[in-house]
Amino acid sequence: MNDNPASALVLKTDVAVIGGGTAGLAAERAARKNGASTLLIDPDFNGTTCARVGCMPSKLLIAASREAARIERAGLFGIEVEGVRIDGPAVLRRVRIERDRFARLTREAIARLPKEVAIRARARFEGPGRLLLDDGRQVEARTIVIATGSAPILPEPFAALGAAALTSDTVFDLEDLPRRLAVVGSGAIGLELAQAFAHLGVEVALFDKGERMAKVRCDKVHGALREVMEDDLALHLGVDVTPHASDHGVRLSWNGASEGEALFDKVLVAVGRKPQLGGLDLDKAGLDLDDHGVPRYERTTMRCGESSVFMAGDAAADLPLLHEASHEGAIAGRNAAAFPAPIPVERNTPFAITFTEPVLATIGKAEKEGAVTGSADFSNQGRARVDGLNRGILTLYAAAPDGRLIGADLIAPAGEHLAHMLAWAVQGGLTATQLLNMPFYHPTVEEGLKQALRTICAATPIALPPDQDAGTPAGA
Ligand SMILES: Cc1cc2nc3c(=O)[nH]c(=O)nc-3n(C[C@H](O)[C@H](O)[C@H](O)COP(=O)(O)OP(=O)(O)OC[C@H]3O[C@@H](n4cnc5c(N)ncnc54)[C@H](O)[C@@H]3O)c2cc1C
Repeated sequence: MNDNPASALVLKTDVAVIGGGTAGLAAERAARKNGASTLLIDPDFNGTTCARVGCMPSKLLIAASREAARIERAGLFGIEVEGVRIDGPAVLRRVRIERDRFARLTREAIARLPKEVAIRARARFEGPGRLLLDDGRQVEARTIVIATGSAPILPEPFAALGAAALTSDTVFDLEDLPRRLAVVGSGAIGLELAQAFAHLGVEVALFDKGERMAKVRCDKVHGALREVMEDDLALHLGVDVTPHASDHGVRLSWNGASEGEALFDKVLVAVGRKPQLGGLDLDKAGLDLDDHGVPRYERTTMRCGESSVFMAGDAAADLPLLHEASHEGAIAGRNAAAFPAPIPVERNTPFAITFTEPVLATIGKAEKEGAVTGSADFSNQGRARVDGLNRGILTLYAAAPDGRLIGADLIAPAGEHLAHMLAWAVQGGLTATQLLNMPFYHPTVEEGLKQALRTICAATPIALPPDQDAGTPAGA
């Protein structure tokens, strides 16, 4: 790692990547693989957001909550479990131990970069193609990739609460589970963490100023999500929340669709994330910025206009997801190396999974853009009933006239697997008939799709395949 300020005052490179997270690492790797000299600049190299405070610690907490929920459900199968006690410090200790392991692995990957590539410093623009580092050095680069990620938004009234206000950056450092937790924000992060804490025995209230959680497009799926959440926690949608510091934690008052006031030990603020572009002096980079101060760029090349600057990952404020950060990093890095002749890449079918129980997912395009819909209800689906996980709804969207699948919304058992299958089917351009003609193993949750696929087939001119015109009975 090159972190000696005295080693050179001006560093020259083909591609300078700002930010050593998932997107930055992918960009640097792709640029180097394509023959460019590279610099990867980060003030910390402390492991990626995903490993430290994002995907992995949240899924570790959810893994513990799922075990707790399974034990809670055991009575359904005639299994009595007595003396269950959730050891909060032990739950959070495992989250941190495993999280630290994932973060260490990302740091080790950075340590394996060729000598002189990793520069430990904070960068900002000094002019087009020129960066100033906070250790006084300068970088001259043919092209620059901005991969500075995003950070949780903590509005001032909550920031004033000090340690009683948590964000996803701090929540996994709790030593013990709080007794009462308020979660403000019902996007993916808020939903996942609110439900996980609730399943771990925390009394949780979830607030949002909007009426729609996680921007779910389908009313039926949103209704099912609402039922799931209301079973697990106190849900307050369509309300404005005001926090007040209290000797015993945080007092929240709310009004709007409902009114009330309650005391909590902590409040987890999950009202969104903002691209980390503030300290970059983008005005000096000669870039065209949108109303939010994000450089305008072309999604297929990640290039900002006609400039030599490329965007990648959460900083690009498009799809703040791990696989997209990695893909965008690879596109940006390769095109930064190929400058000035970027190669456009067809983007993958967008899909997002929220790891609630059941899993919530959004795939591709929605109803308003397609002509035909089909839906499936999991309350009586064979395998879902066998496992006692029989709740959820799936809505498939297809284009007329051939029933080509364009997207789906779902909250369903095995939802993460259904979401993958459907994203691949959409990206592969499959019609409902073609997917229905694929083998479906019995008894699986995947069979639940047939109901929705048949509705679409019936509504489009392409005939049902001959062996699929009768349903598989749930118990057959
Ligand atoms: C709680 C939570 C749960 C999540 N769960 C999932 C999930 O289940 N699945 C999923 O797909 N996604 C999930 N995500 C989203 C996913 O983690 C992010 O999309 C992804 O990590 C973004 O990667 P990135 O490379 O853009 O940013 P980061 O990994 O944050 O990297 C940005 C880097 O830029 C550096 N930097 C910033 N400014 C400068 C500067 N001026 N100079 C130099 N360096 C700078 C930072 O130090 C940082 O290292 C989750 C996120 C959160 C917060």
